[in-house]
Amino acid sequence: MKQISIVFMLTLFFMASCKTEKVKTDTKSDFQFNVEKFADLKILRYPVTGFNDLSLKQKELLYYLSQAAIEGRDIMFDQNYRHNLAIRRTFEAIYENYTGDRNSNNFKALEVYLKRVWFSNGIHHHYSTDKFVPGFDSDYFLSLINEIDESKLPVNKKHIEETLVPVMFNPQIDAKRVNQQQGVDIIATSANNYWGENVSQAEAEAFYNEMKDPNNKTPVSYGLNSRLEKEKGKLTEKVWKVGGVYSPAIEKIVFWLEKAATVAENDEQKQVIDYLVDYYKTGKLETFDKYNVAWLADQDSHIDFVNGFIETYGDPLGLKASWESLVNFKNIEATHRTEIISENAQWFEDHSPVDPRFKKKKVKGVTAKVITAAMLGGDCYPATPIGINLPNADWIRKEHGSKSVTIENITYAYDQASKGNGFLEEFAYSQKEIDRARKYGFQADNLHTDLHECLGHGSGQLLPGVAGDELKAYGATIEEARADLFALYYMGTNKIVELKLLPDNEAFKTAYDDYIRNGLMTQLTRIKLGNNIEESHMRNRQLIARWAYEHGKDEKVIEKKNKDGKTFYVINDYIKLRELFGQFLAEIQRVKSEGDYETAKQLIETYAVKIDPDLHAEVLERYEKLDLAPYSGFVNPVYKVVKDDSGKISNITLDYTEGYTEQMMRYSKEHSWLPSYN
Ligand code: ZN
Repeated sequence: MKQISIVFMLTLFFMASCKTEKVKTDTKSDFQFNVEKFADLKILRYPVTGFNDLSLKQKELLYYLSQAAIEGRDIMFDQNYRHNLAIRRTFEAIYENYTGDRNSNNFKALEVYLKRVWFSNGIHHHYSTDKFVPGFDSDYFLSLINEIDESKLPVNKKHIEETLVPVMFNPQIDAKRVNQQQGVDIIATSANNYWGENVSQAEAEAFYNEMKDPNNKTPVSYGLNSRLEKEKGKLTEKVWKVGGVYSPAIEKIVFWLEKAATVAENDEQKQVIDYLVDYYKTGKLETFDKYNVAWLADQDSHIDFVNGFIETYGDPLGLKASWESLVNFKNIEATHRTEIISENAQWFEDHSPVDPRFKKKKVKGVTAKVITAAMLGGDCYPATPIGINLPNADWIRKEHGSKSVTIENITYAYDQASKGNGFLEEFAYSQKEIDRARKYGFQADNLHTDLHECLGHGSGQLLPGVAGDELKAYGATIEEARADLFALYYMGTNKIVELKLLPDNEAFKTAYDDYIRNGLMTQLTRIKLGNNIEESHMRNRQLIARWAYEHGKDEKVIEKKNKDGKTFYVINDYIKLRELFGQFLAEIQRVKSEGDYETAKQLIETYAVKIDPDLHAEVLERYEKLDLAPYSGFVNPVYKVVKDDSGKISNITLDYTEGYTEQMMRYSKEHSWLPSYN
């Protein structure tokens, strides 16, 4: 896979940490973060903190961009699966027109199915990409269809009966949206709509390999904005652009972007928007690259946005991009935090507990931009990333760099919504631990991420003659452990309080509690009983937590306790634990700097891979009783335009009262431009 990093946040990561001390401006204490829960999903709401402080012109810009972000929703449905729009609209027609019993189990199951279709932008699970099965049968479904006037349906009844029914109810048909399985034709066995029906993987690969020129230092992202189809035996790209496929939706996007250009904050930003409009009109990938380069150059604008065919996770070949949009503005206060860290990068490097031979003489910290999401669209809606690193084209990243952002009002909403779900209460040992997590959790969690990203990965150096790939399959886990240990070690130092990154010498303890609890227990909720830990971030967490537990055992730095038949890990000595983190950081850095494969292997195989089956079973059982939804998504706020007597815009206000179903139905009415088949 490409080195893109959209980080999708599973609810689990957040449950342990809680609220920030700071009172966020214009987030009222009665703000409703939780909207509803169904199937394995939870719907939340995010506050656009700081919106009211923007100038009218900035609000206007955000409004136009936010409209552009909603208009492409249908594209995502159609890209995911060619029958998605017909299915969604059929169910919306039932939902609106059904006059029978809405309290029956069948109808309730139908509502859940429709909500899941909205959530996944289609009939395949947004995360696993497996087709989900309706909780009602086809007889019931057809009985409802029979009652509806055909004119209210998106397609005729014959099509519903003959085509859509098997597609929805037969688990064998188009079972997976993205099939990555080795040894089969991954295009033919994937249900997505990026490739024409009789295009084989071999044909697709040959088609795009032919376009590649190894001497071209600035290659466009071939195939990014089109569907490849076979017409009369000949492969043809159907480009997504004005006048091409998806034109009705793209025209609307362009309409709002052109309005946005009139209130751009500066010439650079206007140029960015102009390139994007030009690209949507022509479909030229060279223009898309120009847009990306201009977007990277624009560092001063307060408001920023992504709008286009961006990520390629939905295509098993990683060429075709899903449509998405994220409109945002800079969180100045939080960005200041990463600037402080970055400015002190050399101090942190010089004072780290690693051998001087492995330290960088000159280290450059990275400043991560922290943003506030103002609107989510397409592939970012309702499930959304918490961080983005773009653009994806390798040559642009190499020559022009990339923008890396974290979306703090989204993580804040996750954090707030997790209050009272019982997770922390279940796995934390004492009330003191719980209270501390509530008080400092969100702040400590953010700081850990910042230290990990802005300093941890960039610290240290390899010895001369070490290439960096010596650790092979263990390299990724060692690298993550290095960054985490760097963060953990420094969080417990006075320097952090001096720099005002944490309020006092108590706050870091919640980060330690959380890390040990997660590394030894709670992250196991994501693994099936009997399996080992495979993923490198998860391996890293258990590696650190278990190593520290074992090495502090004699002095009971971390103690395994049993209360009412339940297991807990309790930290008795936070200062000793910090010393252990420092020792381990020194060792992990040595392993990395020397390329010591044998030690990397021995550490990881000893501490990071295997799970105690009894503890695992216990954790899973305790987790299941909490009945939590593992995946979350968000409804958007509603932007309302206020006009004065002369019809001029005098203000834009935000409304947070719209529910999930209301919003989805409204989008399907007001922002739905495509035919059911494209
Ligand atoms: Zn990392």
